[in-house]
Amino acid sequence: MGKTKHEGPMKLNKKPAPKLWASWAPLGLGKVKPKHIRDTMKTAWDNKDNISYAYRILTQGVCDGCALGVSGLRDQTLTGPHLCTTRLNVLRLNTMPAIEDKWLSADIEQLRKLDSTELRKLGRIPYPLSRKKGERSFSRISWDEALSRIADKIKSIDKRQLAFYLTARGITNEVYYTAAKAARFIGTNNIDNASRICHSPSKTALKRSLGIGASSCSYRDWIGTDVLVFWGSVAANNQPVSTKYMYAAKKAGTKIIMINPYLEPSMEKYWIPSIAESALFGTKITDDVYQVNIGGDIAFMNGVMKHWFEMEREAPGSSIDRAFIEAHTNGFNELKQHIEKQNWKTLEESSGISKDRMKEFAILLARAKTGVFIWSMGLTQHRFATDNISQVANLALLQGFIGRKHCGLMPIRGHSGVQGSGEMGADPFVLPGGDLDEETTARIEKIWGFRIPTWQGDTIGQTIENMLLPNESERKVKVFYTSGGNFLETMPNPDFIKKALQEVEMRVHQDIIFNTSTLVDAKEEVIILPAMTRYEQPGGGTSTSTERMVYFSPEIKGPRIGEARSEWEIYMDLAKRVRPADKELIHFDDAAEIREEIAAANRNYDGIQHLKKRGDVFQWGGAWLCEGGMCPTADGKGNLIPVDLPENRQTEGRFLVTTRRGKQFNSMIYSEKDPFNAADRRDVMINPKDAEELYIQDGEAIVLFNRYGTFQGRAKYATVQRGNTAVYWPEGNVLIPKGVYENHARIPEYNTAVMIEKAEIFHSRKDPRYAEKRIEELEMSTD
Ligand code: SF4
Repeated sequence: MGKTKHEGPMKLNKKPAPKLWASWAPLGLGKVKPKHIRDTMKTAWDNKDNISYAYRILTQGVCDGCALGVSGLRDQTLTGPHLCTTRLNVLRLNTMPAIEDKWLSADIEQLRKLDSTELRKLGRIPYPLSRKKGERSFSRISWDEALSRIADKIKSIDKRQLAFYLTARGITNEVYYTAAKAARFIGTNNIDNASRICHSPSKTALKRSLGIGASSCSYRDWIGTDVLVFWGSVAANNQPVSTKYMYAAKKAGTKIIMINPYLEPSMEKYWIPSIAESALFGTKITDDVYQVNIGGDIAFMNGVMKHWFEMEREAPGSSIDRAFIEAHTNGFNELKQHIEKQNWKTLEESSGISKDRMKEFAILLARAKTGVFIWSMGLTQHRFATDNISQVANLALLQGFIGRKHCGLMPIRGHSGVQGSGEMGADPFVLPGGDLDEETTARIEKIWGFRIPTWQGDTIGQTIENMLLPNESERKVKVFYTSGGNFLETMPNPDFIKKALQEVEMRVHQDIIFNTSTLVDAKEEVIILPAMTRYEQPGGGTSTSTERMVYFSPEIKGPRIGEARSEWEIYMDLAKRVRPADKELIHFDDAAEIREEIAAANRNYDGIQHLKKRGDVFQWGGAWLCEGGMCPTADGKGNLIPVDLPENRQTEGRFLVTTRRGKQFNSMIYSEKDPFNAADRRDVMINPKDAEELYIQDGEAIVLFNRYGTFQGRAKYATVQRGNTAVYWPEGNVLIPKGVYENHARIPEYNTAVMIEKAEIFHSRKDPRYAEKRIEELEMSTD
């Protein structure tokens, strides 16, 4: 942990810098770009029935959108307003009225005709609902009935057959903490959260490389660092206000590099609405782009290190920070030997980047005195994700870019809850403040006053597979309790997911809205519990940003929805009903009491107990983790870890596919059109040369297919690395194999390989044996 404290927001240098302008045409006229003013007006219109409450949420609450983190309209990085259209889009979830009764009692088939966007627009869930096997509609039930029924069912099963899941839908630390505690009190370690499918490998890799589980630096470190690298991260789209920090960084002379198969337009140029100069003329964001193959990052990084070691041989001290390596790292010789064995041809083929281009990047980093590496799903949603991230850590350690100003490693988070969820213990591998090991278990048992199960709980992917185990299996999931989440639209292979969800005896959806997963049958009963948003919860709540700022969001005066309850209260109430004799052990009087306990259970969070009013915030761990190069590992050193190249061969006619996000928040789609490239949701980004070889025209109907599924879309010519394509998530999930997990963090693989054909050729194919043969060739290695 660092001693240096964050210095608070700095002033933005607003002096015009025409050399950074994206275009001389005012307001980007004629360019494909988001229409911020129009979007803001639309939000005002959408929220017109509750406009003063909407305003109070924006000015008093902590954003429930991404995890960049903002309280009201102010953040800790730059003075001046902080607001984006993601937050404005999500706002309606907080202000809309309850679902009309006619929909709550509608025939299930009528509801199933609606997609998730239409279901969301129906409104908020106002009271508990039940739908038993064979029933065609939901029926209203009382809270008492609902919780008693769930508790009775839980009492009747082995607790290994019970699993909890929490998404990141604005959920607060208080809720994650209470859920984590309630699950263990009830007797299960099967509890997981949404970070499993986004940044779980980041935490695992940072732990093994540096002994930390979060960003080592702050956003302020972006501004003025020599090199800022975005690796598989489209921060401009997913954390929009980060562009303001990028603008400030450019003004301070920082070079911004993007490493991604697709030249993401939003990272190339952005019109930042809160900065007049940028709103008018746009800002060129990236200085250079390395278009790696999907899954080619490890090879690229190995190539960069190989150059460093060669440069080092010719001129010692020219490429890496030897003093830092000697004082603060282990494993240098092993890593060097491992890298020197690699051959350039393989590295070039696997990465898609030439040796010369790798050298350019190697020299850029070698000459930089400071650097910040940021990454996201482009590195984490792979079957070798933990290795991807450890490779980034290797680069940072070799350059000494750790634990000081303008340096660091940052897994940038997409949802406001995910940083805190694991830190609160809503994770099968951890308890608040530590791993599920003997020492932490003993410490937490003392605080909680009850025994914690010692068996290893399952991740969400495993839990879903366990739903299909035979009835007599001791790990067959019979009760699945999920707070938010839409597995049908977020996990690979939707058909398999549906089958699994139907196999659960009782499913509980604690949520604010309906989605398509809520409507899936269960073997015995589906129970829906109406939850409050973070702004409605009495006593307020906290959420932790990517840079470890813990923000307090107060309860905000406004309308309340029917019988919706605070989520922490629901978990507490349920737990008491399962073990009534011990109910005092799981009782909290209010949210402040939960914060008191969090401060004791997770020592990093000492300070949370003092957060009481709007604007209160503290950063755990100080400005830099591993300050001065001292890592919280057994010997205080960082570990350099040799990483093997993953299999990344491309055979003729076979394309790599990755998934990308458009105008959406998680699986909630806000526009069918991507404002940054004018693509439709079923467009497939493809290199024009690849398309031309297949005689495919821009805009032509095409089919992507493999042994897992078929995706019908349209070719969209785009600046994407040859042999690579990108489809929108979750639409493209039909192509993703199920059951392929990363070895360490168990994140599902979200990339695959496909054949591509013109739709007319695909559909005219009459001989099914031919199609089967072609598809067989696509089987990916899942080792
Ligand atoms: S960038 Fe993220 S934290 Fe900031 S307003 Fe937008 S969604 Fe909220």
